[in-house]
Parts: sequence; C-alpha cells; structure tokens
Amino acid sequence: MTSQIDTLKMMPIQLEKDTNQASAFEVAQIQLEKAVKKMNLDPNILAQLKEPEKVLIVSIPVKMDNGTVKVFTGYRAQYNSARGPLKGGVRYHPDVTLDEVKALSAWMTWKCAVAGIPYGGAKGGVICSPKEMSEGELERLSRRYIYEISSIIGPKKDIPAPDVYTTPKIMGWYIDTYNKLTGGASFSTITGKPLELWGSEGRGEATARGLSYTVEVAAKKLSINPLEATAVIQGYGNAGSISAKLLHEQGYKIIAVSDSKGGIYNPQGIDILGVSDYKTKTGSVKGFPKAEFISHKDLLELECDVLVPAALERVITEKNANNIKAKIIAEAANGPTTPEADEILFQKGIFIIPDILANAGGVIVSYFEWVQGLYGYFWSEEKVNSRLKKLILKAFNEVSRIAEKEKTDNRTAAYIYAVSQVAKAMKVRGIWP
Ligand code: NAD
Repeated sequence: MTSQIDTLKMMPIQLEKDTNQASAFEVAQIQLEKAVKKMNLDPNILAQLKEPEKVLIVSIPVKMDNGTVKVFTGYRAQYNSARGPLKGGVRYHPDVTLDEVKALSAWMTWKCAVAGIPYGGAKGGVICSPKEMSEGELERLSRRYIYEISSIIGPKKDIPAPDVYTTPKIMGWYIDTYNKLTGGASFSTITGKPLELWGSEGRGEATARGLSYTVEVAAKKLSINPLEATAVIQGYGNAGSISAKLLHEQGYKIIAVSDSKGGIYNPQGIDILGVSDYKTKTGSVKGFPKAEFISHKDLLELECDVLVPAALERVITEKNANNIKAKIIAEAANGPTTPEADEILFQKGIFIIPDILANAGGVIVSYFEWVQGLYGYFWSEEKVNSRLKKLILKAFNEVSRIAEKEKTDNRTAAYIYAVSQVAKAMKVRGIWP
C-alpha cells in the first residue's frame, strides 16, 4: 500500500489557522473544513453543518446530603438530525463546557454516519464532580437533569447513553425518570442501560470490542503480529480497561496503562486482570505492584505498536506528537488528537484509527439496544458481536478505500465519507419551511 508518508509528501495540507489554542469545538470545525476542501460540498449544506441545530442549557438544583441546595449546569447539544433521531452520551465531569458538548455532538453526527446507522448526533454534559458526590446526590442530579431535558428527548427524538463518569446504573435512573414523566414504559429512550432494564448483551464491552476489531485489521495492513507486539492504554475506565483486556486477548503485551491519578509501566507486560481487580479495590491503577510509576506525559511517548488514548480530548498535540513512537493510534477517546498533531503524525507515517471510527462500537451496539427495545425482542451476545463486527469493518474498509483514493489521512477520509452521507440526507430533505 502507498504509505501515509508518501501520500502526504504528494499533497501537503496547510491548516489556515493557528490551532495551538483551539477549543474542542474549534478542533471539530477544523477537521470538518479540512475534509470539505477535498469534497465537492454544496456551500449551503456546509453552512448548516457548522453549528448544532439546537442547544439546551439547564440549571439543575440538587438537595445535597448536608442540607444545602447546589445548582449544577447541564447541557444537551443536538448537532444534526438529517439521518435520524439524535444519539449521544452524557458526560459528568468538572471540566464539561458547552464548547466540549458541542464538539462531542458533532463527532457523534460523523460517527453515526461512518457507522452507517440511522441516527443524527447529540451529546449531553453536566458540570459536576461525581467522585465527590454521594450516590443519593448523583441520583437526584441525574433524575432532575433528565426532567430538564425531557422535552427534547424520546425514543424517536434523541436517545441519551453513557459517557465519561456515567454508568448503566445512571442510565437506569434516566429511563425510570423519563417513563414516570411521560407515563410510558418504553425502554428505547436511553441506551447503555442495565440488562435488567433491557440493556443489550455486549453493550458494556462494545466500544472496546469495536476498537479491537479495527486494530486487528489495521495491524494486518501494517504486518504487525499481535503475538510479538506491545500496546499502551491511556485511561482505564469503560473504554480503556476493556480495550486493554481485548488487545491482551489478541496477544498484545500491555506495557503501560493509566487513569486520572497516574500511570503504571512494566516492559515485561502488565497483569491486566490483576490491575482491574486492584482498581476495583483501590479506585486507581496507580500503585499496582509489579509495575513502576509513569507520568501521563511519558506514557504517551512510550515505544509501542499500538497506543490507545481512552481518556479525554486533546492529549496528543503539536507539543508531543513528534515524540509519539506508536505505529498505530486507535482513538478510543473522542477528540484525543489536535489537527496540528494529526499533520505531524501523518508525516511520521503513524496509522491513526480516528475516534469516529475506532470507538463507534459503543454507538453501534447502542443502536442494537434501541432496535431490540423497540421490538421487545432480544439477541444473544454472539449475535450482537457478529453484527457489530460486520458494521465496523464495513466502515473501516470504506474509510481505507477513501484514504487511498484521495491520498489523505484516515480521519479526513472518515469525515469525507460521513459528511457526504449527512449531506445526501440533507439534500433530499430540503429545508422546512
Ligand atoms: P470512563 O468514565 O469509564 O473512564 C474514563 C477514564 O479516563 C477513567 O479511568 C479516568 O480515570 C481516566 N482519565 C481521566 N483523565 C485522565 C488523564 N488525564 N489521564 C489518564 N486517564 C484519565 O469513561 P469512558 O466511557 O471509558 O470514556 C473514555 C473516552 O472514551 C471518552 O473520550 C469517551 O467520550 C470515549 N467513548 C466512550 C464510549 C463508551 O461507550 N463508554 C463510546 C465512545 C467513546
């Protein structure tokens, strides 16, 4: 295959603005503009793709355990609904901003289109520190948040799901609240629910499982033998810890992992099952015996075959991209790489499996959960996994085909595919009124 280095030398891409300080949403806009330059996109369509269709900002008063009332801010951004009901998780984090939620809603739009599922993109967020809240406080916050956004969500409107620091248990509170408010008993307004409330088999592992399928084909393309290869994982939550487990099952030696408190490194390989038990007991991977401490910065720059950023946005930037030594970067996290870093990594010939493809397994199985809930007919985990594999590999092949044809990087190729799918739907709909 033509290497990414060769293709970039043929067609250098100049970014028009200094992206050093770009916010997450600016990053999303730059990525869109970069793809659009390679497309014959109707400017009237582009004009509608630059901002979300709707953003709701809500105040969420919560009775705290100490008797005071604390008012939290929550968001729901609905980016584009041309291809179907809106879909996207809800993030609970102290650093949530409207800008971040808008960016995540844009990425959801492109992700659903790349995956070929009948959804538009949305995202929610609440500014809060869930680790410092009691379960009761979290439940009251969650129920009131859903009440506040209840007018714009629904099984055929907008379907929330988990994201950073939100869990199946929280999804259970969401669906119960929504059903109480609407007087219904449908389970299809929320995905990522507990199995007892008709969550889908395989949903918990879906993001990482989808990622592991894409890494498998990327490794074959690059002639990497997993049995002789190493992987590094940043972030040890749902996406990161299960990616570590599944890559380990493929044969990769996992040499470093981290979470918000710090990282651990062992060039001989880390006992992944042991780390998961240790994190369950202590709340962090940090301090795990038989591994040494490694900083967030050094972990990303380790020599390895596969690097999986599985935490937050903008961790691979123009400051560290030159020091990245991985052969494949599989983006479990949304938006981990800035546009400037993208250019550097492309020059270096690093094969990026972009977020809107690599982590699409989560929303693909959320789609399966929604379909199963609507029909009230549920599939085995084997069926879920095989259908996931089929969809994500189809998307991978589509992106690879465009990357090769357009002589561009995988992210731009994924955008070209996604934006053209969304644009086609917008074109045939027209504008109302
Ligand atoms: P999670 O809450 O389960 O885990 C997040 C992890 O990141 C935690 O281990 C946390 O300690 C760690 N972390 C936070 N800051 C960090 C830092 N600076 N360095 C290292 N680790 C840090 O969340 P998740 O669901 O696994 O989501 C992680 C990423 O994957 C997010 O970008 C999310 O949008 C993306 N994602 C998740 C899903 C899903 O289905 N869960 C689907 C698609 C994309």
